[in-house]
Amino acid sequence: MKNSLQLGIIGGIKVTVHWTFVLLIGWIVFINLRAGSTAENTLWSVLFVLLIFGCVVLHEFGHALAAKRYGIKTRSITLLPIGGLASLESMPEKPKQELIVAVAGPVVNLLIAAILLPFVNPADIFTADSIVAVHAGNLLPNLFSVNIILAVFNMLPAFPMDGGRVLRALLGFKFKRHIATRVAASIGQAISVGFILLGLFFNPFLVFIGIFIFIGAQAEVGSTKTQFMMADFTVKDAMIRDFHTLDYDAPISSAVQLLLNGQEKNFLVMQNGDPAGTLDRNQIIKALSEKGKDGKIAEAMHKSALSFQQNTLLKEAWPKMQLNRQVIAPIYDGDQLVGALDNENILEFVMIKEATEKSQGDHNAVTNFNENKATNIV
Ligand SMILES: [Zn+2]
Repeated sequence: MKNSLQLGIIGGIKVTVHWTFVLLIGWIVFINLRAGSTAENTLWSVLFVLLIFGCVVLHEFGHALAAKRYGIKTRSITLLPIGGLASLESMPEKPKQELIVAVAGPVVNLLIAAILLPFVNPADIFTADSIVAVHAGNLLPNLFSVNIILAVFNMLPAFPMDGGRVLRALLGFKFKRHIATRVAASIGQAISVGFILLGLFFNPFLVFIGIFIFIGAQAEVGSTKTQFMMADFTVKDAMIRDFHTLDYDAPISSAVQLLLNGQEKNFLVMQNGDPAGTLDRNQIIKALSEKGKDGKIAEAMHKSALSFQQNTLLKEAWPKMQLNRQVIAPIYDGDQLVGALDNENILEFVMIKEATEKSQGDHNAVTNFNENKATNIV
């Protein structure tokens, strides 16, 4: 995520904190000052919040480790003021696997609560009604309470929150994945509107969480639908065979010329007859403004090795292109270059498939080309 500070890399997963997190700490200090707290009490409040977010990181690692069991990598875990975000490379498509990955987070919070239990006097739990009221004497009981609340809150069926993913997985045992997603997302969006309304009166964080859920649900309906539309089609079905290429040693002006001459926006860059990289419209414009028309294509291009065989499934190739932010990829038949897979063409291909399905009676299709990112908010 942009505007994030890296805290460290644990088990190959980048842990970062978003800059807006500073606002949360600032807010905690502010409400303490307003309540007339001592400096010591203010520090206890801040420590308490940091410990909560430590638990949130462990919660996200719960998801990440469960996903790892199924061969799914986690790119990063980001801390936001409203919770944690684990960017998994994908979500398992098998309902049982998604179920396990989704519950693994809340289970971690229950485990933390179980570990804290021996150090907690039952009379002290759920006692601090405000973060200002936390001090040395009630820190652990309140941390226990928070972990119980985190587990319960996350299990609300508000897709794409954990409980919503559990719901989709359960629906997935009976329905196709994109139908299960649509039902879970509708329920999630209804709950998110409830969060937003409640938040307006009681807690501004609920408003942000509500908005996050609403947008997240929409994006996942889109990407699940897109992958469903790609079904069993191969790269060969969607690739373009007629396309212009750019020469590695040529100046940017030749790319500008191609951009102006036709409809193509993304190009393969060739060196000695082989693709050496890709260049898209934004890169051409950027290079033109920074280096002028004599700038080198070789220096402006995206050097990526991502290429596919023509019999690769489209639903496998597309997420890889999204992850690598690569808008065009060379396609091979053996070692022969036979075409190019262009993001714009994939979009058109899916729209055509969608229109075909719509004409057969499905009127609820939504296509959204957001990054294919699995999100979990605590
Ligand atoms: Zn979670």
